[in-house]
Amino acid sequence: TRPDSKSTLAQLLSEIEHRNPAQPEFLQAVHEVLETLEPVLAARPEYAEPGLIERLCEPERQVLFRVPWQDDRGRVHVNRGFRVEFNSALGPYKGGLRFHPSVNLGVIKFLGFEQIFKNALTGLGIGGGKGGSDFEPHGRSDAEVMRFCQSFMTELYRHIGEHTDVPAGDIGVGGREIGYLFGQYRRITNRWEAGVLTGKGQGWGGSLIRPEATGYGNVLFAAAMLRERGEDLEGRTAVVSGSGNVAIYTIQKLAALGANAVTCSDSSGYVVDEKGIDLDLLKQVKEVERGRVDTYAERRGSSARFVPGGRVWDVPADIALPSATQNELDGSDAATLIRNGVKAVSEGANMPSTPEAVRLFQEAGVAFGPGKAANAGGVAVSALEMAQNHARTSWTADRVEEELTHIMNDIHTTCHETAERYGSPGDYVTGANIAGFERVADAMLAQGVI
Ligand code: GLU
Repeated sequence: TRPDSKSTLAQLLSEIEHRNPAQPEFLQAVHEVLETLEPVLAARPEYAEPGLIERLCEPERQVLFRVPWQDDRGRVHVNRGFRVEFNSALGPYKGGLRFHPSVNLGVIKFLGFEQIFKNALTGLGIGGGKGGSDFEPHGRSDAEVMRFCQSFMTELYRHIGEHTDVPAGDIGVGGREIGYLFGQYRRITNRWEAGVLTGKGQGWGGSLIRPEATGYGNVLFAAAMLRERGEDLEGRTAVVSGSGNVAIYTIQKLAALGANAVTCSDSSGYVVDEKGIDLDLLKQVKEVERGRVDTYAERRGSSARFVPGGRVWDVPADIALPSATQNELDGSDAATLIRNGVKAVSEGANMPSTPEAVRLFQEAGVAFGPGKAANAGGVAVSALEMAQNHARTSWTADRVEEELTHIMNDIHTTCHETAERYGSPGDYVTGANIAGFERVADAMLAQGVI
């Protein structure tokens, strides 16, 4: 007889909670996915097969290592390094490295778990993984960051490879860090293996449009959600959080499509700029000077104001694009956005909205694009970078952007149709989770109990 899928899921969740104590972000991500799978488990009994979901929720391999390094004064520091190789049913493990003091095993596992479904949604051949360290690059010199990256790679290199596991950037890991990591990998292994890391510089194997891809892709996803409702981005006001790579290229693409992003933020507070964020100035402050957003407000003049410690969600807008970090937008922020008439929320960061915020958006009929669908453009172009590396070629910016546009529109269609098929029209959370799950689960079932 068929097990009742609801009680099977409840039982599984409690076992997973028991097995992963003190990992709130990981459990939050697992809950969010499993809670939406009930209809697909009920409709397709093969997915309720014992062990399938347990296997999906347990990483294939978890690597933890010591990262010792010396600062410029000769003091020794010890950080912790992580690589969680979560699921390789669809291809080599793929996912970024995050360098941030908040990193711990539970955070990396949540990111790796999300990555499995996100990567599946791209339709490309990439499994899910994630890594990083509790290292804080902010305020460190280039030489310190280089020594840290070299030490990190001196351990990581034995676990990765172009057909095995392919890291990229995430928070705190951009072009500079990927360069130092790649240099050390090449030195240790004596191999020019461009496909071992993505997000490389353009002169040495990087793909055009990779830096832009996550932000561009998220705006394309938001545009697709609006189009579905007979609306568009033209003339809309947008609030964007964050001021890193994702936020910067989100703001750029919004402007290109006729919308106006009026905010950006970092851990010190946020900037609201009535004239719209000046991208050249933001790039100068954040990318060249590695400074803070208050400097942006100081230099911009009267249109901009810095609000120390506040949240961008207080600023009225038609569209919200959270592009900073997990759980940055909670229930009360969602209520404020809804009160101010927000029409669409699309997640550039991974799991930026709390479960309560997501529930409120959905109840209010706001178009809500979950990160694993909306921000998949970054990892998708990483997979295109791998393809270019394997073929020892490089594509034009136009070609990459065209592919990215197709991929984002396909992800939108897949999520939309899947949600409809399982009785939740307009629910992109359910659509993304079920569509990602189906692709991974089919591959896992076909490949046997491994
Ligand atoms: N860190 C990004 C993400 O969250 C990109 C991963 C990649 O390019 O491998 O998807």
